[in-house]
Amino acid sequence: MGNKPSKCALCGSDLGAFTYRPMPQWNISGIICGQCYDKKLTEHYIAPDRRDVTKR
Ligand SMILES: [Zn+2]
Repeated sequence: MGNKPSKCALCGSDLGAFTYRPMPQWNISGIICGQCYDKKLTEHYIAPDRRDVTKR
C-alpha cells in the first residue's frame, strides 16, 4: 500500500503537507508535526543539560 503514517508520533494530530523527521537522539519513531519538532528542537537547545559545556 505504501501508506505513510499520517499522524504525529508525539501529539497524534493529523499531519498535513509538512512532516518532520525527528532527530535520532530524540528517540522518536515515526514522523512528527512542525509544532512538536519545534518544541523538541527548543528543548534540546535550551535544555539545561550541559553535554558539551561540562567538558571544559
Ligand atoms: Zn505533533
